[in-house]
Amino acid sequence: MRVLMIAPPGAGKGTQGARIAAHFGVPHLATGDLLRRHVARGTPLGRTVQAYLDRGGLVPDRLMQDLVRKALADATTGGGGYVLDGYPRNPAQAWAAYQIATSIGATAQVALHLRTDDDEVVRRLLARAGIEHRSDDTEPVIRRRLALYHEVTEPILTWYDRRGILLSIDGMPDADRVTAAVIPALEARRACHVDRPGPVPELLIAAGAVSCG
Ligand code: AMP
Repeated sequence: MRVLMIAPPGAGKGTQGARIAAHFGVPHLATGDLLRRHVARGTPLGRTVQAYLDRGGLVPDRLMQDLVRKALADATTGGGGYVLDGYPRNPAQAWAAYQIATSIGATAQVALHLRTDDDEVVRRLLARAGIEHRSDDTEPVIRRRLALYHEVTEPILTWYDRRGILLSIDGMPDADRVTAAVIPALEARRACHVDRPGPVPELLIAAGAVSCG
């Protein structure tokens, strides 16, 4: 199963991403976690990106592209799937993700969008701040991350919709109920089997030319 997760901060990407990955037996690649690990280890990349994370800004596309190319190549060695969580986050990254995935024959089958309400995600993230102590879980930084999401991330959903791979699920209920909605919906998409992953089958599915199940 090859899934991209696109949702605002606090929508439950981390929790749902881990559960989806466990269900399908594929790696969960969360770009925020990968970056935070670099920061914690004090790598050159970690030192470069720390200020972006602290301010809730987006790490430059070129750095993200290198990180994701390597993570996806490692994950799909031997033909495996992935749950890519937190990437892409803007149109340039959406195009880069498509090109990287095409080059390794592993384009996404589903772009999973979790729908939420801004006030609810702010409440969730402030609650998380008391537990995880992330540098970017303060109210001004949360608001900035949300604003960026609406400005540059949300518009890419249209592209996935047009490609016929968008799956939009209500992320407002509690985590177990969201998982109970997400897993069967992904299973249904998996049944939509195509022999040759890539743009042509996806376009055929969107046009109803390839039947599912
Ligand atoms: P997350 O854990 O997904 O909320 O990401 C935490 C932070 O990591 C974000 O606020 C960004 O600073 C950075 N980050 C994660 N993914 C990306 C990405 N695809 N592009 C740019 N920055 C990212």
